[in-house]
Amino acid sequence: MFEISPYTFRMFSDCPQQYFFYQQKDLRLKYKKTRIYFVAGSVVHSTLKNLFSAYQPEERDKETLLGLFQNEWKKNSLNFQKAGGDEQLYFQRMRDQIMLFAKVQDLKATPALTEDYYEAPLTEGVLLRGKIDRADRVNGGILIIDYKTNKLIPENQDPLQLYAYALILNENAKQRLNLDGDIKVTQVNYLYLATSDFYSFEVNEEIMEKTKQIFLDKVEEIRNAADSLYQKGAEARVGKQCSFCDFTEICPRKNEALAFAKPGSDLEELT
Ligand code: SF4
Repeated sequence: MFEISPYTFRMFSDCPQQYFFYQQKDLRLKYKKTRIYFVAGSVVHSTLKNLFSAYQPEERDKETLLGLFQNEWKKNSLNFQKAGGDEQLYFQRMRDQIMLFAKVQDLKATPALTEDYYEAPLTEGVLLRGKIDRADRVNGGILIIDYKTNKLIPENQDPLQLYAYALILNENAKQRLNLDGDIKVTQVNYLYLATSDFYSFEVNEEIMEKTKQIFLDKVEEIRNAADSLYQKGAEARVGKQCSFCDFTEICPRKNEALAFAKPGSDLEELT
């Protein structure tokens, strides 16, 4: 079964060489980097997951949320050590996001689903996977929320990642969410925690069909690239993606890539 996710879709689109490195488990494990902004973001995600999945609505308040956040942060102390960088700066930034969430968002909400990996077949041989942060039942439909911990909000919002999640939930929402009837995803949202702003997109059948085709076309493209890989090598595309690439040291365009991958660059602010 060929697996694709919004993450690997984007990785291949940005740089096929990075994608093929990543597909080799031994390379993935050997070169894996621990980055402070990813560790900090994952603490926030775990905190919100725990709040909504382990606490009853009446138990949830600002203090509970802050306590959960501090515990999660401590649990990750080894990861922060490994990552290096200004832990205090990230602690303050993520704490602010958590506090704003407590102030502005509904802590008593009862999500139908909290963060986990979900998957659905696109065809017999292709599986679409994704890590969905949260889905709520609203007015007879499902609303997906993807938490973003970026400091800066990108000017252009690309909803493809969210559409993929909608596709997954529409395929198996009934089983995963224990729902009756033909309930579908009607809206998908990015929630930027730095400002508590939502960016929302409606979902309909036409969009779902298009999304499915976009992913199937990408699978075809990856398969074709894999077929020609041994003759001419994968294409290494130097760009901002090099800042987040674990394979810079074995990249065939290492020197150019390193120029993009300076630690502390502004690009980190986007994560
Ligand atoms: S360092 Fe840049 S060019 Fe090289 S594989 Fe990674 S993303 Fe691609």
